[in-house]
Amino acid sequence: MSGIDALTAELGGSLRGKRILVRSDLNVPLDGDTITDDGRIRASLPTILQLARAGAKVIVAAHLGRPGGQPDDRYRITPVATRVAELVDGEFDCLLATDTVGESARAMVERMPEGSILVLENVRFNAGETSKDDTERGGFADELAALADGFVSDGFGVVHRKQASVYDVAARLPHAMGPLVAAEVDVLRRLTDAPERPYAVVLGGSKVSDKLGVIDNLLGKADTLLIGGGMVFTFLAAQGREVGKSLLEVDQLDTCREYLARAEQTGVRLVLPTDIVVDTAFPGGDREPEPRVVSADAIPTDALGLDIGPDSARAFAAEIEQARTVFWNGPMGVFEVDAFAGGTRAVAEALTKVDGLSVVGGGDSAAAVRRLGFADDAFGHISTGGGASLEYLEGKELPGIAILED
Ligand code: ADP
Ligand code: MG
Repeated sequence: MSGIDALTAELGGSLRGKRILVRSDLNVPLDGDTITDDGRIRASLPTILQLARAGAKVIVAAHLGRPGGQPDDRYRITPVATRVAELVDGEFDCLLATDTVGESARAMVERMPEGSILVLENVRFNAGETSKDDTERGGFADELAALADGFVSDGFGVVHRKQASVYDVAARLPHAMGPLVAAEVDVLRRLTDAPERPYAVVLGGSKVSDKLGVIDNLLGKADTLLIGGGMVFTFLAAQGREVGKSLLEVDQLDTCREYLARAEQTGVRLVLPTDIVVDTAFPGGDREPEPRVVSADAIPTDALGLDIGPDSARAFAAEIEQARTVFWNGPMGVFEVDAFAGGTRAVAEALTKVDGLSVVGGGDSAAAVRRLGFADDAFGHISTGGGASLEYLEGKELPGIAILED
């Protein structure tokens, strides 16, 4: 039985007229008042519609940006609520409260008809939302819980946070895991419990220090670990190679050495690029990029590595294509600039050919596949919550999930 079905049973067999609080992840990128990518709203909509079609009074709680615990006009949720209303396309009334748990929210919940939608103002306008103090957080959660009869947790991007609208409210109301969270958890379990082999993990992105926990945990689970992106230079330097002006985290050299040694001992194949695309400056400004391919053994001292080279891209792609389970996090290069997007494109392309489970995780990686023109459904799964999926893959317990399982 799905989470929402179980909640329905718990609430007496029907959601008709029931006030259901849904925590969604609607934290979309904005340019002024304009939403530049509404992917998260579109992804969240099926759950909201499912509840409204069941006759519930659907109260949507979400955050936008980091307003710092008080109302801030720059972070009003209005553009998000407007977009929700557009996408709902007249099927249901769609209202917006001008506060989170205050007079506006309470009055609107009071007069909501069955089968309608109310979006609360940015939950982070209330200091209790993200407070580290259990009492302060609990106080806000009490007020949120008082608005509703049941709670659906559907914001995967926030389940690694012990926050009032994610964690504490679940302890106060009959609750269910929403379909979006359930789908993410299902995929992450397949990556960590008995993955189909060969299992390849591809890691990139800017910093090794962001991904240490994941490397640590997956070194014990994957058959092959392919490393690219900015983090690769700390590995190359750990092997004693010159990396020029490339991104280098000197304080992680020992850790990288330890990973290289552990991979050797445990038989995990840790694959580093053999060629690198370099330039003499980081791309930007008016300067035209002057990409050059060099051996990973011969990075000039005045150059910096900005992508894996074509030989490495082919080798990585071959490894990926013959795997049955692939997890990829972190672009292989500075994909935002075409001259340095080749490695990322090759990896993305290879993932689309995997006969098995292929998963893209991480905000920039998901943005990269879209920017490079790949369709979402070319991959087995694109995770919506970068931080949450990484913490799960580090082997950490996610508070917003654990509380639903109680
Ligand atoms: P994700 O959000 O998918 O987890 P990260 O945030 O770790 O990924 O990294 C994404 C960023 O890494 C991109 O902005 C990309 O330009 C940058 N990057 C990739 N390769 C390099 C490199 N060689 N040097 C500097 N930055 C890089
Ligand atoms: Mg990122």
